Amino acid sequence: MSTTSEQSPTFAPFKLEAQFATELPELAVPGHGEDTPDPTLLLLNEVLAEELGLNPTWLKSDDGIQFLLGHNSQPLTQAVSQAYAGHQFGQFVPRLGDGRALLLGEIQDKSGHWRDIHLKGSGRTSFSRGGDGRAALGPVLREYLVSEAMFALGVPTSRALAVLTTGRKIQRETAVPSAVLVRVSTSHIRVGSFQYSNLTGGIELTKRLADFAIKRHYPALAVRLNTPTPQLYVDFFREILKRQAHTVAKWTRLGFIHGVLNTDNTLVSGETIDYGPCAFMEAYRENTFFSSIDTQGRYSFGNQPSIIGWNLARLVETLLPLLGETPDEGMTQAQNLMNEFGELYHGALLEEFALSLGVDNSHKELFETFQNLLTLNSPDLTTLMRTLTEGATPPPGFESWVAQWQELNPNYEQMAQVNPVFIPRNHLVEEALSQALEGNMQNYLQLLRAVTHPFDRTAGSAFLTLPSAPGFEDDFRTFCGT
Ligand code: AMP
Ligand code: MG
Repeated sequence: MSTTSEQSPTFAPFKLEAQFATELPELAVPGHGEDTPDPTLLLLNEVLAEELGLNPTWLKSDDGIQFLLGHNSQPLTQAVSQAYAGHQFGQFVPRLGDGRALLLGEIQDKSGHWRDIHLKGSGRTSFSRGGDGRAALGPVLREYLVSEAMFALGVPTSRALAVLTTGRKIQRETAVPSAVLVRVSTSHIRVGSFQYSNLTGGIELTKRLADFAIKRHYPALAVRLNTPTPQLYVDFFREILKRQAHTVAKWTRLGFIHGVLNTDNTLVSGETIDYGPCAFMEAYRENTFFSSIDTQGRYSFGNQPSIIGWNLARLVETLLPLLGETPDEGMTQAQNLMNEFGELYHGALLEEFALSLGVDNSHKELFETFQNLLTLNSPDLTTLMRTLTEGATPPPGFESWVAQWQELNPNYEQMAQVNPVFIPRNHLVEEALSQALEGNMQNYLQLLRAVTHPFDRTAGSAFLTLPSAPGFEDDFRTFCGT
């Protein structure tokens, strides 16, 4: 069968693989998306679709929509929900898994990388426990916006391909429309996936999972899989440390708070995932947290690097037998590796500061003073960085530091490419979502356009650069939004 019409291709012009499902069946439970009464494609990321070799015209067709919902009427996929465990707020839960998500399969993008196509809110699975397997439209739109903003800001992240409304209302605090988010990551292998494999399948399954992750994410290491040595797994874990250090340093530089850094929400690819109660902080305060369920501030802004370190320690524990010829050797390697994390993070943070201040990374003292001034004065981080970028008058408290910094002849052009004009500010996101839920997508689409072109002042109205009114952040709370 072939299509001649570009307008209405009748079959899917792409190939989806089932690598994870085939190679790790112990961690995959077959399933499909539940029926939906009245599905509508609300948002489609056409640029990402093209990058994945997916035809946007086909995706908009009835068959395309059935595919995006994971319906078994589309025989294109061998969809599975993935098993994982996780430490949630420090408490170990041995069996979590995709309670409302499905991995449709993997697709090779135009640059040859494998990407997971994954649904969130597609219905109940064998991991749903008491949950309904569904997702509310508000949080789905929020994840689409924030993850695409993060991508545009240069942060490793899952991407958003589409939002579909289902025509169904679900009960949350009130009855709200439900939706399915189609998201894309280089994999959905979590620290919690290793915790689960270790618990249920021991080192044999864990090694297979590690080898899969090496093949998917670390091709330079994959060539050594034929003759695996402990050093291979040491190098594998070190790469994960580096990627996570790099990602969390970017969060710090941008004032991003993930909000729910459980081990099941930490990927070995280093990509940011699971945008639930996340938020960008306005006033710079290390102890900021917004999540309504994070009552202790475990996942506050300033705690994120050490929490990621803690999560990675849980990961390395699952790899011990692979890291050395003897248990002692494995343990010593693990300890040495974990000792590297702090330095990797501080190195990555220095790089980030250097980039955003347009100087090289040799000015450690200058960065430290800057950080102290941030803590002392709690400025709006985004506005401050852009003020520096544009050579405008710095806020009180920063004058003498700025004079010192300017003597270094900062590279303003470079700064303009890393310090955003537009971020998804909480008050703007809230307003856009409340309108979207009333059926008016205009504000949402304007905000989406601005935050996905964060360095281009012409991409949005001036009011989209404004911080919230004084006091807004004090009572602002985010919700996991299940
Ligand atoms: P999350 O907070 O989205 O990272 O989810 C944590 C765990 O709860 C995962 O195992 C999810 O699959 C599960 N979960 C969250 N919401 C639902 C829901 N509405 N129905 C079933 N499972 C859910
Ligand atoms: Mg999660």
